[in-house]
Amino acid sequence: MSFDCISCGACCAYSETWPAFIGDGDAAGIPDELIDFEHGRMLCHGKRCAALVGELGRRASCSVYANRPLVCREFQSGSEDCISVRRSFNLPVA
Ligand code: SF4
Ligand code: SF4
Repeated sequence: MSFDCISCGACCAYSETWPAFIGDGDAAGIPDELIDFEHGRMLCHGKRCAALVGELGRRASCSVYANRPLVCREFQSGSEDCISVRRSFNLPVA
């Protein structure tokens, strides 16, 4: 099972401490104003990653998609975590 991430964006807006930079060179290519240098992660506004654009649950995208951090690349649509996050926003999971 997988979901259309373009009409979701939930995993980019569910935690003020995610995504953290865990991979080598994770910040490469990401504008400084979108980075929380103190904590080594993407800057978040509340729980929403500063790189997320659009309307959650309708049309969302990542403004640094080509350079997004490793944890974002590894987050799989349709995974247990994905389903859990979608549920938290009352988005369909079936
Ligand atoms: S929560 Fe799942 S469906 Fe939504 S954007 Fe993230 S990976 Fe895609
Ligand atoms: S960097 Fe992009 S893919 Fe990762 S959480 Fe932020 S908006 Fe989502």
